[in-house]
Amino acid sequence: MKKIKYLLPILLFVCVCGMLIASLQMSGSMFGGFQTVGGFGNQGVPPGGGTCANISQVYADNPFRGWPVQYQDCNWGVISAYYCTPHYFPGFTHYGIDLTNFWDSSGVNSTAIHGAPVIATANALVAQAVYSAPAQWNYGMGNFVQLIGLEQTCEEEVNLDINHDGLIGGTCAAVCEEELNLDLNHDGTIGGYCGEESEWKATYMHLLDVAVAAGQTVQAGEVIGHVNNTGNSTGDHLHYQINGPEGAVDPAATFGCPGYDWQAGVDQGQ
Ligand SMILES: [Zn+2]
Repeated sequence: MKKIKYLLPILLFVCVCGMLIASLQMSGSMFGGFQTVGGFGNQGVPPGGGTCANISQVYADNPFRGWPVQYQDCNWGVISAYYCTPHYFPGFTHYGIDLTNFWDSSGVNSTAIHGAPVIATANALVAQAVYSAPAQWNYGMGNFVQLIGLEQTCEEEVNLDINHDGLIGGTCAAVCEEELNLDLNHDGTIGGYCGEESEWKATYMHLLDVAVAAGQTVQAGEVIGHVNNTGNSTGDHLHYQINGPEGAVDPAATFGCPGYDWQAGVDQGQ
């Protein structure tokens, strides 16, 4: 693993990337690789699939936590497809979780999720941020952002190197600066952070726009884009997927929301 240190971005900006036709990938998994369709380009790398054995499991070293869109927080009624939903469509297993429009109990009135802010669910490094207008297929992902979660350990939390001799702790002074509200650089600003790249990634798909760029860091809760319907999608929704060292895991289990019932959710969704 690699130590990294990045200052917080001063400006958010939109990456408008050129179209790149990548080689086709075929596989029987949803976002474990996906076939293209004629006339649409592919950029980026799909996150890969996993196993359904980890439904409802939370891994302690997974830094991604929380509801990934600012919309109907913790309302399981906005989940239209769960991790490892059987028969998502023929031959495909669904390795993310889909958050979509909220339908009231009558099933008639819906509140649109279109344009809802998508938020980073960990302090993270932006690994991929792919946007084009018009949106491309991108293996079914459309416009998407992929984050690498940062493990933010801070050895200097107690033993700060106030004298700047560089001898105490590792490379996480910026983390301490933020946590302790200090201006260690005497530049009038507080913040910036660093961390160690974890083996965990989260991917946010089908976006309207992309508010971050590859290589920058984001903080948990920061807006990284908005919900739309790009790529392999028939309606506005966020496909949110977490992949760890062993492949995709169940994102819903990391939401920290009460009442998570995978079977009930799948039954209701079918
Ligand atoms: Zn999905």
